[in-house]
Amino acid sequence: MRLKFIVAMTDKLARTVKSMPKSPFYAILDYVAELGLDKEVIYLNQGEPHFLTPPHIREAAKKAVDGNNPYTPQPGIPELCEAIAKKLKVENAISVDPGTEVFVTSGAQAALYAALQTLINPGDEIIVPSPYYPPYVIDTQILNGKAVIVPFGLGESLTLDPEEIEKDVTDRTKALLIHSPNNPTGGVLSRENLKAIAEVAVRHQLPVITDECYEKILFDGAEHVSMASLPGMRDQTITISSFSKTFSMTGWRVGYLAASADFVKSFAKIHHTINICANSIAQRAAYAALTGPRDFWADWYRVYETNRKILVDSLKDAGVRIPARATGTFYVMIDITGMNMNSEEACRFFVREAKIVLTPGSGFGPQGEGYVRMSYATQTEKVTLAAERITGSLKKLKRKS
Ligand code: PLP
Repeated sequence: MRLKFIVAMTDKLARTVKSMPKSPFYAILDYVAELGLDKEVIYLNQGEPHFLTPPHIREAAKKAVDGNNPYTPQPGIPELCEAIAKKLKVENAISVDPGTEVFVTSGAQAALYAALQTLINPGDEIIVPSPYYPPYVIDTQILNGKAVIVPFGLGESLTLDPEEIEKDVTDRTKALLIHSPNNPTGGVLSRENLKAIAEVAVRHQLPVITDECYEKILFDGAEHVSMASLPGMRDQTITISSFSKTFSMTGWRVGYLAASADFVKSFAKIHHTINICANSIAQRAAYAALTGPRDFWADWYRVYETNRKILVDSLKDAGVRIPARATGTFYVMIDITGMNMNSEEACRFFVREAKIVLTPGSGFGPQGEGYVRMSYATQTEKVTLAAERITGSLKKLKRKS
């Protein structure tokens, strides 16, 4: 009886769900489990800071728990919307009205999905540069839209060719979805490059969704430029950001979207059906995050910077190519084409031979193949050991071939 129900239920699933392939990100964890190595491996696949959320943020949450917690107003608690608008003005050079142009969401993830749902009719197109954060394409497909993939340039620095974008604009195009600092490459698009993209967007009245989750994690003098701050882009840009990475609040589920009042009004209808409002306790904590001290950041930055240097220097010494300079986020991608393996095989190789878990580039779109992603958001001792093991295993492989 139960089996019959399960079979019937499977038949009922949406086509979009049935056709979703298993993510290679999970397949590599299955491989670790299959080899019984879960206690031995170093995990460099994680996409989140390892730091404890700063004390003043935790305190604000504890206080909120003891208060009354009804649904909050639709866009978020007013003082948080005010604080976000102030932050956008001071740190991103974007002027928004806190009452009508800011919306607090359950992380950037919810903002992304609801923003796409606000725009997409079946068959509509979203231009997505690759390699990309997988939900950009998965969300678009779930909504029966079409993700039109354009390649990022993965040379010395991360680049995006405005002409490639312009070629792909059709009357079905609803938006360009950009993401810098970029997961998985760690690359950061330059001001000049973003300006050239903005010119295309203005010329074609093309809305731009910009995911700026990693805006604060920058190295070697890299600059983060918000698309909405560029000439002509304020009302054409949907800016999405998050508390997850900047404040080590991934599990708290709080992020936000800023856009024109017209868009936010429509977005609110979709968001309401999914979430009603973002978690009220997390919203109080987010307010404390934005308005409280940032001194913890210097310590965190030192750790990221040290980890990045250890990894990048040892990989370069071993002759490994790192595309796009990786001057943002806490990820580095390495070129594995010399290993004569695809990215999933290379990840299995690193599990077996180096006891390191990495993320196959194939999960980030067609341009991700030929690369694996490493995250250095972990303790420096682990990164040091991981760098030794990775380069050691590569040298051994070279000797064999
Ligand atoms: N956007 C990018 C590029 C990410 O890498 C992630 C998480 O890893 C998210 C969005 C999700 O962020 P949030 O925790 O705010 O939902």
